Amino acid sequence: MQPNHKYLSLGSVSKLLLGTSRKTRIISASGLFFAACTFGAIGFAPLAPDAADLPVSLIEQKITLPNLSQQIAALEQASPQYYMREEKVRTGDTLATLLNRLGINDAAAENFIKSDSTARGVMQLRAGKSVQAQTNDAGSLQWLRTTVVSGRDNPVKNIVVARNGDNFKAVEETAAIQMRVEMRSGLIHSSLFAATDNANIPDPVATQMVDMFSTNIDFTSDLRKGDRFNVVYETFWQNGDFVRTGRVLAGEFINNGNTYQSVWFQEPGSKQGGGYYGFDGKSLKKAFLKSPLKFSRISSVFSMRKHPILGLWKQHKGVDFAATTGTPIRASGDGVLDFVGTQGGYGNFIVIKHWNNYSTAYAHMSRFAPGMRKGSKVSQGDVIGYVGSTGWATGPHLHYEFRVNNVAVDPMSVNIPNAQPMTTAQLRQFRNITGDIMHRFALMQPQKNAVKLASIE
Ligand SMILES: [Zn+2]
Repeated sequence: MQPNHKYLSLGSVSKLLLGTSRKTRIISASGLFFAACTFGAIGFAPLAPDAADLPVSLIEQKITLPNLSQQIAALEQASPQYYMREEKVRTGDTLATLLNRLGINDAAAENFIKSDSTARGVMQLRAGKSVQAQTNDAGSLQWLRTTVVSGRDNPVKNIVVARNGDNFKAVEETAAIQMRVEMRSGLIHSSLFAATDNANIPDPVATQMVDMFSTNIDFTSDLRKGDRFNVVYETFWQNGDFVRTGRVLAGEFINNGNTYQSVWFQEPGSKQGGGYYGFDGKSLKKAFLKSPLKFSRISSVFSMRKHPILGLWKQHKGVDFAATTGTPIRASGDGVLDFVGTQGGYGNFIVIKHWNNYSTAYAHMSRFAPGMRKGSKVSQGDVIGYVGSTGWATGPHLHYEFRVNNVAVDPMSVNIPNAQPMTTAQLRQFRNITGDIMHRFALMQPQKNAVKLASIE
């Protein structure tokens, strides 16, 4: 595995902490969570300016380790005789083997879990589920907690078994969801999805990353071996169990020597919602998609076999994108449909009017997406139709035109102005976020990783 695949991924940080803490006798589930939260919180707090020159290993200590030791110290002070552990249920586990791994040596607790109707839920856990427990140093159970899904439409619940004097009680409670922020890096060898798989990046995150950079990169044809990326995204967890991914918060893509960076920004209290911005504060939504074709795991496989672009800017004033019939075609910017219908050699044809006298045109479609009518509003990325070969087309492809004042021009030659620049206040807030993210991306450079991994592993 490449060093940069591992570095700063929360998974490896957690593993590292767990390993260390086992040696030092306390396994603190809440400590782990605390470290994760801190990581997330720091992601959005600007670092001190002088932090930029510190070596990577030092940064990691500054961010994570002191918080864990603080947490452990706090635990030791507050309840010096208690131990917390987290274990995953294994195939073939009995209640006895699970409790044993959790350090519980408590026959009364075991009997209670076997007999109490609520607590018995612990015995129905599937392999892989997390269970946390606290004991005293004699192994007596203080409390035990796990997550269950009770019925199809019911929310996820915690079962908590807790000591109640000499006895126990068990309750079900709604499980709180915790958000973590993860950072991962990848290196392109063959395809984007091979790289994201290799870096353990979930598909919804990979897809968001593609969308985030699709005004800069045509993922079907622009990727090169050796391209790299970093991505920061939310994940949601319940009691140590992964629930789902959330939003991609920031990303960096180094494509063919060019670095593209993007960050999610939403002004607090804004009703318009957030969006992705370049690190210069320019909204990426104001630019046009580099390719109107939808990129997916499936189309990426297709592109490995057959290069999709027939030609670049051509005499006939358009760009042709070859693709299989039925490939979704997206609006390359926000706008209003100006023409939907059949028009001579263009076949099934759509023209979208954008701002500033910009318009885009899409020809040879096999069919239109439902609801496409003159005057309808579309947003960037909306599917408007599907690739075909209607009109004068020798094979299935998308003929795409970018027009200024109704005259087709080379889209690569047009410098699109930023329609709505940020206010000074917005920009200040934005810079607080991007300053920190840029710093983190700088720390994820491969050569620095090598130093950092050598010092720890
Ligand atoms: Zn054409």
